[in-house]
Amino acid sequence: MKRTLVIVAALTLLCVCGAQAQEHCGKCKKSGALNLTDAQYMALADSIHKVAISFDTHVDTPTYTLHPDGHYTVAKGQVSFELMRRGGQDGAFFAIYLDQGPWQNQKSLDSAYNWCHNELQSWKDYVSLHSDEAEVAYSTDDVYRLKKEGKRIVVLCIENGYPVRTLEDLDEFYKMGVKYITLSHNTPNQICDGSRYINTYYWYPNTGHGLSPFGYKVVERMQQLGIMVDVSHISSESLVDVLKVTKAPVLASHSSCKALKPSQTRNLTDDEIRAIAAVDGVIQVGTGRFFLSDDLPYYKVGVAVLANHIDHIKNLVGYRHVGLGTDFDGGGGVIGLDNSAQMKNLTVELLKRGWTAEELKAFWGGNLLRVWKACEDYAARFK
Ligand SMILES: [Zn+2]
Ligand SMILES: [Zn+2]
Repeated sequence: MKRTLVIVAALTLLCVCGAQAQEHCGKCKKSGALNLTDAQYMALADSIHKVAISFDTHVDTPTYTLHPDGHYTVAKGQVSFELMRRGGQDGAFFAIYLDQGPWQNQKSLDSAYNWCHNELQSWKDYVSLHSDEAEVAYSTDDVYRLKKEGKRIVVLCIENGYPVRTLEDLDEFYKMGVKYITLSHNTPNQICDGSRYINTYYWYPNTGHGLSPFGYKVVERMQQLGIMVDVSHISSESLVDVLKVTKAPVLASHSSCKALKPSQTRNLTDDEIRAIAAVDGVIQVGTGRFFLSDDLPYYKVGVAVLANHIDHIKNLVGYRHVGLGTDFDGGGGVIGLDNSAQMKNLTVELLKRGWTAEELKAFWGGNLLRVWKACEDYAARFK
């Protein structure tokens, strides 16, 4: 461990021009990029992943793992505990995803709740069966313990608040270990409007496409419990409403930049990125190729294009507000970063762009843990 730290410290002091450099080199005016061979870059990435706590904040793996014979429209099998270990990735937020049409009736809400509850329990049972290599984390303390033990860190989350019928349901999901809820998916639900189809379905027609009256209560109760509010997928109006009332930092678990792909309705504008950073939140960049480029054909979108989005956020609001949420097993993946074993390729790309070891540690998990801890601290007042 000591030796690794020394290597990282030594290498981050050299600039491409050969001068001593940290952050920005006075000699060539470039940030502290390194002039290394590919093998040296990978060795450096290895050493960073050993000391960093690294998270992917959005994978849709439970659905595939629990229902391998289902019919899926996107590639599956991008995440396993073994692939994560090979990629130097410590943890992931494993989403229970709920597809959703328009409002139907109470029966449909009940069945969404029951399905979600069942999936959460089944996924926890699956993790228990693999307790030699992975464990569910219920707190940031658990995260640090599991990193020390060398186990993969499983965090539970729900993508789409559709199964939240009452505030008591939130208490139940919290007890089960849920650490974030994406308030809506692409369509409006009882909490808020989604980023797409807002003119097709109406849940609460008089809310200006933002949070519903129930949605405000959901956000308040989630934060009192310590469940992070995930603003990916929600409408711009809903985001404005959330940020007006939030008592703790929020995260966008898998979202990219509208400035680099304007046609993607659920990408975040620069103003939205600034607003999330202003509450000390974090934007975890998604890797779905359909989020990343309007110019390149699908088959040409690689790690560099993904890194452009990451750098865009860094340049806009600083490295403390950016991370990664791949959306693996839910449509995510670019050339060179198409499963959990390939995480270090992104680290190498960012090193080549001048990211320091400290910045990369923040990117991979420090930023997310800061947000998570702030939510825990806020919730502690209500326990
Ligand atoms: Zn998903
Ligand atoms: Zn999603």
